This record gives sequence, C-alpha cells and structure tokens, in this order.
Amino acid sequence: MSLLCSNALRAARSYLHTHLTGNLRLCKQVCCPVQRLCSPRRVNSNICLMLCSKTRAGPVLAHRGRHLHTTAPKRALPAPLVWMVLKPLQKLLAVLLGRSIRKWWAALPHDRRLLLRRWVQGHRWHLAAGGSVASLIVALLLLTHLDESPLTGRVRLLVFSRETYLELADLTSEAYMEEFAELLLPVTHPLHQMVEQAVQLLVQRNKDILEVSQVPWSVHVVESPEVNAFVLPNGEVFMFTGMLKSVADVDQLMIVLGHEMAHAILQHSAEQASLSHVVDLLSLLVVTAIWVLCPADSLAVLGGWAKDKLTELIFNHPYSRKLEAEADQVGLQLAAKACADVRAGPVFWQQMEIKDQLTGELKLPEWLSTHPSHRNRSSQMDRLVPQALELRKGCECPALPLADPRAVFTETVRVLLEKAKQREGGGLGVAQQLQPASVPAEPPAPHNVLPPPAGGDQ
Ligand SMILES: [Zn+2]
Repeated sequence: MSLLCSNALRAARSYLHTHLTGNLRLCKQVCCPVQRLCSPRRVNSNICLMLCSKTRAGPVLAHRGRHLHTTAPKRALPAPLVWMVLKPLQKLLAVLLGRSIRKWWAALPHDRRLLLRRWVQGHRWHLAAGGSVASLIVALLLLTHLDESPLTGRVRLLVFSRETYLELADLTSEAYMEEFAELLLPVTHPLHQMVEQAVQLLVQRNKDILEVSQVPWSVHVVESPEVNAFVLPNGEVFMFTGMLKSVADVDQLMIVLGHEMAHAILQHSAEQASLSHVVDLLSLLVVTAIWVLCPADSLAVLGGWAKDKLTELIFNHPYSRKLEAEADQVGLQLAAKACADVRAGPVFWQQMEIKDQLTGELKLPEWLSTHPSHRNRSSQMDRLVPQALELRKGCECPALPLADPRAVFTETVRVLLEKAKQREGGGLGVAQQLQPASVPAEPPAPHNVLPPPAGGDQ
C-alpha cells in the first residue's frame, strides 16, 4: 500500500505540475501584511500549538490552523489520491470483465447464442430506454458539478472540491520538500530573495483577489538545471535555477511566476483531474467493449493502446493547452497589476523558441503536446499586451521605458543573424554565434524588484 501511495503521490505531482524549495513561510509577510496570522510555537518536542487569527481565516487558514495536538494527526487520503490508487485496478477489472464475457460467449452452444440474440432483439427498446436513463443520470450528475472559474468566469467541471485538492497539495508539497531537501537554496541566497520579492510583490498587488489573499504563499528555489517552475494549490512556489537562467530580467520572471500562480488560483489541477476522472470512468465502458469485441488478447491490447492515445489527443491535450493559454492570460494580468513590463512576455517565449532551435531540442507538434507551441504562446501574449498595459496604467505603476523590449529583441536577433551570415565562412555556426547575446546564460542579476515610488504612466 505504501508503494501504491508513493506512486500515486508521484502521479499527483505530475498532475499538480509545480515545484518548490525551502521552509520559509511568507505567512507573516504576504498574506497578512499588518497582523501576523499564524504563529507556530514549539511547546515541547511533540506538542505544537498553532494560533491563528479568526478575522482572516479563509479556507486554507482554517485548514492549517486552530489545532492543538500532541502527535501529528493522521490524515485520510484525499479523494483524488484514492482515485489515482484505484485507477489501475478499475481498468484491470474492466479488462477482466470484457475478456470473461468474450470467453463465455465463445464457449456458448450455438442454440443458446441464437436464443440470447433473439432476446436482445425482442427487448431492444427496453435496453435503449435503460441506456437513455443511465445517460440522463450521468448528465445530471455532471451538471450538478459545474463550477465557474474565478477571474475568467469560464464554466467548467469540478468533481473534486478546492479543499480536497488543498489536502492533496499539502501531501504533494511534503513529498517535494523531501525530494529537494538537499537542493534547496538557503533563504538568504540572493536568488531566493529575488524570487521571494517577486512573489511578494505579485501577492501584495493582487490581494483584492480572494484566491490570492487567502493562501499563505511560500517560496522554494531548487538548485537544478531543469527549466521549470510550479506553484501548488496551497501556495507553495517551486522555482528551479534552470528557469532563472532562462529569464532575461525580472519582468520575465514575474510573468513566469504570474503564469504559475494563475494555475493555482484558477484551480487548474483540480479541474484537470476532474475531467480526467470522468473521462476515465466513461472509458471503462470502452475498455470492456474492446476486450469483448476483439477476437484475440493481442488485438485487445492494441485497441486499448489506440483508445488511450485517442483520448489524449481528443480530450486531454487540447484541454491542457486551453488551461495553459488561460494561465498565460491571467498570469499576464497578475504581472501587470504588479507593475511588471508586460511587453517582456512575448519576448520570453521568443527566447524559448530560439533556445530550442539552438540546442536542437526535438519539439513535438502542438497537437501532440500538452502545451501550446512557444511561437503560439508568444503570439497570443502579444495580442494580450495592449489590454494588460491598460490594466497596468490603472495601478499607479511607474512609467515604462520608451524602448519596447519586443522591438529591441527583434532588432537584436536581426543584427546577430546578419553578422552570422557575414561570418559564415569563418567556421562558426549560426547557433554558436547567436548563443551569447540572444539567450540568457545566467540568471538575471538579483536586485530589489519592488517598484520605485509611483510616478507617471506611459
Ligand atoms: Zn503552465
């Protein structure tokens, strides 16, 4: 069981697609700028007294605080985790059921088969009515689980509640903290402080959003070349140094953080798990049918594989890309309210595209991927920039520099390509010549990301 749980936690981590570091809780600095919300006190080695303010106790604070206990309370496994553990078992049962039906049918005498066929023919309208009623019940159940996405107002299916997913996020973040324990940068490290300031700024400037102000945000910076960052629904921010090397400046960093925070605020992991849960349950019928109808086990295995791939291509990947695009949109708005230069957003994705070209990394076509292509993300963000600039204008932010980072980047790439063409005979490839200037090789210089006092806007 412990092995199953550990595997399920790994699966949960990929669902939540987040990452973090360190133990510093921003509770006192971020979610409660005036009053410290939670003050954990060690009374002795095994008693922990948590005092929490009742005035700001939102779902998360209520969940984390007000406990007086002498030993760590045993938590029930959250529903999504139980489902992830049972998921392979359900599929195995569907396979066994389908295979048993096929074998049973094959072993039936000819006259019994004929009788059964006649019975089905005679009761076809009853069977159709039964199927319709079952479909109606499923449709009604799904309708009762519709929910409105915060900020965007999009209607989506949410089978698992936010509270349930917060419990899962707590378990997942504990697992990550164990996994990254040796790789976490100390909270005094300049890179950690830079990310923390950026998160703090994003939170402070967006505290009008309930889903932002209710979460105790924590920052963890992981020493790893992986270009990755993620935020768990419980506010645990994981940033990899590989990602810090990929952003050219603090504006890009805030846009990346805004994107990841948007996933958490919009509860995308719960939404994705809900869709996956419903699709998996419905596909049990398809799996059973495949094993009933395929004349041989090898064909049934092939049919099951084809069904899985089709499900990914038709449901999971397009839905995931849709959520990514939504996180880009909301993340840009969060960054705009935090006074970031949102024009840096499209530049970041152009940089990523060039970086992939230079490193020769094989990229899947968008329709095979869970994420939109870098080029499409850059174009979409470019279309969203005017709206984000309007939003920024209303937030008493300092004026932006006149030079548009998009134009600067385009011009830099043009000049470098020209130089590369001129030197083509010199032995250096285009990729080598472009590398130093067009793609950041080092993290942006850590500095205070808090904006200067408000002045005029552009
Ligand atoms: Zn994302």
